[in-house]
Amino acid sequence: MYLKALEIQGFKSFPDKTVLNFGADITAIVGPNGSGKSNISDAILWVMGEQNSRQLRGAKMEDVIFGGTEKRNQMGFAQVTLIIDNTGHIFPRDESEVAVTRRYYRSGESEYYINRQSVRLKDVNELFMDTGMGREGYSIIGQGKIDEILSVKSGERREVFEEAAGISKFRHRKDESERKLQRTEENLVRINDKIAELE
Ligand code: ATP
Repeated sequence: MYLKALEIQGFKSFPDKTVLNFGADITAIVGPNGSGKSNISDAILWVMGEQNSRQLRGAKMEDVIFGGTEKRNQMGFAQVTLIIDNTGHIFPRDESEVAVTRRYYRSGESEYYINRQSVRLKDVNELFMDTGMGREGYSIIGQGKIDEILSVKSGERREVFEEAAGISKFRHRKDESERKLQRTEENLVRINDKIAELE
């Protein structure tokens, strides 16, 4: 599994459609200060579902959309597609390539696609869960991340290891089931109250 390509359009400092092909080897991106290197890793984090604009070095989500320059108007939406090799079937899907797309409009509307099929954010999160990638994953180590991992509370540090060990999907499902169980128990109490009133 490796990143094959990244397509960016209208995202931060990339108004025009820009395609980066990575290949299976190591890729280094170099450039002067402020030329947009970190915006590329922001684009990868964003397409994997990041919801916290501060993690994307912005104040609000709209800041990911190209904001215009003296010579160019601002864009109405940002779109990023990440194409990942899946020949090893790390993603439990038949396709040998998985393309994840996220589009965000100034109106605040979001769209997500997996291999051009419209999906929910939840589906994108589940796709990446336990692969080591994803917004909760440890695959993107930004400046200060190591310090953060070392200084967080032990419970949060455990989550990093759980993701690496491939068990966070089960923890997530367990949490979901517990929430459902709680709602069902609350409904049962209400029904029992009603039955008692009728008797
Ligand atoms: P450094 O080497 O200093 O870390 P860098 O190459 O990583 O720099 P980035 O931080 O990726 O650079 O890019 C910063 C540039 O992106 C700035 O010029 C900033 O104006 C531009 N930028 C960020 N968000 C937007 C946006 N929404 N619209 C237009 N330009 C943007």
